[in-house]
Amino acid sequence: MRIVIIGAVAAGTSVAAKARRNSEDAEIVIYEKDSDISYSVCGLPYYIGTDIERAKLTPRDPAWFKKRYNIDIKNRHEVVDVDIKKKTVTVHDIAGDRVFSDSYDRLVFCTGARPVIPGIPGTDLEFVFTLRNVRDADRIKDFISKKKVSTALVAGSGFIGLEIAETLAGFGIEVTIVEKALSILPAMDGDMSVYIEEYLRGRGIMTFKDDYITSIEKTGLCRTASGKEHRADLIILSAGARPETSLAVKAGIETASNGAIITNEYMETSVKGVYAAGDCAMTRSLITGEYLYRPLGSTANKTGRICGDAITGGPLSFRGILGTGIVRIFDRTAAMTGLTERDVLEADFVPEVIHNIKPDRSEYMPGSSQMVIKAVADRKTGRILGAQIFGADGVDKRIDVFATAITFKAKAEDLFHLDLAYAPPYSTTKDPVMYTGMILDNAINRGRSLITPAELRRRVGAGDLIQIIDVRSPADYSRGHIPGAVNIPLSEIRDRLDEISREHPVVTHCNKGVSGNAAQNILILKGYSEVYNLSGGYKNYAAGISPGSD
Ligand code: FAD
Repeated sequence: MRIVIIGAVAAGTSVAAKARRNSEDAEIVIYEKDSDISYSVCGLPYYIGTDIERAKLTPRDPAWFKKRYNIDIKNRHEVVDVDIKKKTVTVHDIAGDRVFSDSYDRLVFCTGARPVIPGIPGTDLEFVFTLRNVRDADRIKDFISKKKVSTALVAGSGFIGLEIAETLAGFGIEVTIVEKALSILPAMDGDMSVYIEEYLRGRGIMTFKDDYITSIEKTGLCRTASGKEHRADLIILSAGARPETSLAVKAGIETASNGAIITNEYMETSVKGVYAAGDCAMTRSLITGEYLYRPLGSTANKTGRICGDAITGGPLSFRGILGTGIVRIFDRTAAMTGLTERDVLEADFVPEVIHNIKPDRSEYMPGSSQMVIKAVADRKTGRILGAQIFGADGVDKRIDVFATAITFKAKAEDLFHLDLAYAPPYSTTKDPVMYTGMILDNAINRGRSLITPAELRRRVGAGDLIQIIDVRSPADYSRGHIPGAVNIPLSEIRDRLDEISREHPVVTHCNKGVSGNAAQNILILKGYSEVYNLSGGYKNYAAGISPGSD
């Protein structure tokens, strides 16, 4: 059997390696138009920003693959046509400047994705870059080392935009981010993005949301849709990625509306014997079963392995994704998995949303700091649907616990029962993940309702007569409070019940949620019928004051 693979980065090499592990007989050839193969795309921002050697990013060459796996990788060979009837590919050997034909029994598209380049004047100027491969990274690195770059503009604040912003700031460059969406890192809900934005501001990175660049001039002047002008010595376009599937489309292979190739669970396309894996392939949500396109290295490696197995008769099949993603932003981390509140509202679920602000380890330990967790569950089934976290340490392990729990369809109440590792340097006796489950369980099953700051604002704005009881100390209250809130410290609440009407809904809150919950308990046990605790307390309410956060 002759297997032809197009593309030799994450997915392509995974397909080939797995196919070879299953079969010594198959002939395996990969065509790659670039000169670099099998490199860490995900490492590119760090390669630009540090002195990681290029060779460490691209440790394997075609000779290594030949020796280790008996796989032929032809780099600088572009597949320019595919004939699915004749089962042939037409290949342009770039270095040799010749075109030839090759045949296959199994063909695999691993053609990846390409950066979205806005159709505006000036994107071809020498100081405007995208970042997708090692050569792009080399060019950016070279530009920074040779030119005097003191200002940079990053267009787009997804994972890559934030990574590159961090990298550029590391050179002492003044960085501005312009984001088309209403909030930074738009994959997260706006009320989580405000924490990131506030943090970026503290690091000297300016963010402009709900705006996009409309032209770039030779002088470095960028105009935006809202009429703003920014000046930059260097511009990085990180406005998303589109599946690279023009060849597949031309060959008549079925694609989704975003252009990604549709496959079944064995990564086989609409054409028998033709497969796709990695960023060029469409995926489905593990939760909803709907199409979900999240071009990530983790998924490219996984779908590549499954595809390599499937084409050589193995049993692996692809289950779907949660869209789990993580990004370092200086000494903070933002991560998410599963559905956001926004997604849940669009799907057939009844959302229960909580914000949980907790220390990442015992508070007396040096380095302890707060992390903000937002979690969403389905009220009907109690199932956890998604989590988003922003914090300093330990965000990665918490998001992976959530991802695992969601994968195995855990309910909110299950999180408390997880036997998670605890010692003071790493966690608290009840880990923030367990608290998240407890709060959700209390809200869903035990009548301890929560209200998000956004919902509180909406209801107050709509004229609901809601009594807001701020149970913090008078000193905290005087430093800042929710308009209309009455200050009754927790220790006094039992004696001052006559100040709280039983006729109207009550919202209790403290700074982060714990004392607010204690006050809520008291009121419920004293017979108040509609009592909410404010999700994430005043801290979360105050964070959301920034525009676009709702
Ligand atoms: P690609 O890496 O795009 O490789 C496709 C290859 O196919 C390319 O080399 C291309 O030249 C070749 N090709 C295309 N058409 C042809 C043709 N006609 N003939 C021959 N060759 C062809 N993901 C994470 O999970 N975590 C991260 O931290 C992360 N960081 C990232 C940082 C950056 C800067 C970028 C750009 C991406 C990042 N990603 C991350 C995403 C991840 O890198 C991609 O999901 C992954 O590279 C996809 O692998 P792939 O093999 O499907 O596609």
